Amino acid sequence: MRCAYCNSERVVKNGKSNQGKQRYLCKECGRIFVENPQRRHYPHKLKKIAIRLYTDGVEMAVIARSLEVPYETVRSWIRAEGERAIKKNRIKEEKVTG
Ligand SMILES: [Zn+2]
Repeated sequence: MRCAYCNSERVVKNGKSNQGKQRYLCKECGRIFVENPQRRHYPHKLKKIAIRLYTDGVEMAVIARSLEVPYETVRSWIRAEGERAIKKNRIKEEKVTG
């Protein structure tokens, strides 16, 4: 079991949610989350911010923590966008703003 937010393995059981799902507390970031959280729809803006941060060289775990989006979601966004494309874009931007 890993933290839905920071991907840390330092999680402990923390009672049950209202729906009776096992709840966990992350000792790394202090957040509480449930097992197999339902897929939530995040605004496109948030996805763009996440990709922008990743382009700027911010770690995925840090992005997840600061945007309060599960790590797996951030990773899927970045994967969908294509890590290589992002890195290529980064180099291009550096040349432009240089
Ligand atoms: Zn955490």
